Amino acid sequence: MLAVIHYNEIGLKGGNRVFFENKLVQNIKKALGKKSLSITKRYGKILIELKEMEKEKKELNEKEKIIEILKFIPGIANFSFAEKTELNLNEINKKCIELLKLQGFNSFKVISKRSNKNFELTSMELNKDLGALIVEKLNKKVDLHSPELNVFIEITEKEALIYCEKFNGVSGLPVGSSGKVISSLSGGIDSPVASYLMMKRGCKVVFVHIFNKTISGKAVQSKIDSLVKELTKIQLNSKLYIIKFEEIQKQLIMQVPAKYRMIIYRRFMIKLINEIAKKEKAKAIITGDSLGQVASQTLENINCIYDSAEFPVLAPLIGLNKEEITETAKKIGTYSYSIEPYPDCCSFMIAEHPETKAELNKIIEIEKEIKNKEELIGNAIKEAEKKSFEFS
Ligand code: ATP
Ligand code: MG
Repeated sequence: MLAVIHYNEIGLKGGNRVFFENKLVQNIKKALGKKSLSITKRYGKILIELKEMEKEKKELNEKEKIIEILKFIPGIANFSFAEKTELNLNEINKKCIELLKLQGFNSFKVISKRSNKNFELTSMELNKDLGALIVEKLNKKVDLHSPELNVFIEITEKEALIYCEKFNGVSGLPVGSSGKVISSLSGGIDSPVASYLMMKRGCKVVFVHIFNKTISGKAVQSKIDSLVKELTKIQLNSKLYIIKFEEIQKQLIMQVPAKYRMIIYRRFMIKLINEIAKKEKAKAIITGDSLGQVASQTLENINCIYDSAEFPVLAPLIGLNKEEITETAKKIGTYSYSIEPYPDCCSFMIAEHPETKAELNKIIEIEKEIKNKEELIGNAIKEAEKKSFEFS
């Protein structure tokens, strides 16, 4: 069996196009493992020779598995399972009729695309000739506006491809083509979605979760692990740092007025992430902030929090509503893990009415008075636990 992969954005790249194509090929190879026998590039597309599947039932399951894998690989716009023939009109006609005999449909439309301009017919001619043949041999009706079946024919440099169904991918750029970023991953709905959006822009995402062992306990392990595992199907391997926050939090509770604790907590989280970013040679920090969603996410507070970053802070959800974020979380499979109950270390000992319009000067003034800041950060980093995840 053959799979045809189409990309869109990569196709628009100029001189760098080969770099992006090769990254995508590399990622597909890793994602499919032994399921693929060979991967070859053609002009504007990638062909995967898939391992032969034995029984009919097994084939269905295998196909479903391959669909589930390919639909999450950034860079793929759509893909299909195709029949292949030589670049010979008789062969194309024969294969096409053979394939369509197996399909239940009444009306159809032929959609041909020719990247090989040396082929004897133009796309239009192929549409017409093949259409007429299907009408004659199979007694079906042409419907150009809403056909029950689309018959796709692609004429490449080396072969003709025939298929009837297209599966959507996530589009974007292949992971690894845009550099590394650190994701500040909470157990909520938002930050996994923010991580996914950056993967879709070609970033390799390293996760950092900060937690208070005394209040979060064991729950952290399975929940955060499950989220990272789910996201690993998109970027294929992941690193997760788990950083303990209890010592820092204890100090902040003693030294910071309740009203400002949330902001200072988050500033310290960013300070911890700065250190991981340096270690990992990452180029940016990402958060799941969405403007105005909670008290820490007013423009004033975001300004105070991001001020502590030594790297650009990207917040891909900043302009999205909760419903939009939730919809994506469901699509990528993180939602069901995100809604598992989990005591958030951030909500611990903060004011009932936290400051929503903090002034940076005031925050810096309070922070100046906090003792042993560097030591607190250094110790937490020293004790950080690092985990690796591989897609399988
Ligand atoms: P989420 O749904 O991602 O938890 P939220 O709406 O609950 O977001 P906050 O709790 O204010 O919002 O967190 C805002 C952002 O701060 C998160 O999206 C995440 O990037 C970061 N963050 C919050 N808590 C943690 C944590 N314990 N560890 C790492 N990052 C965190
Ligand atoms: Mg949260």
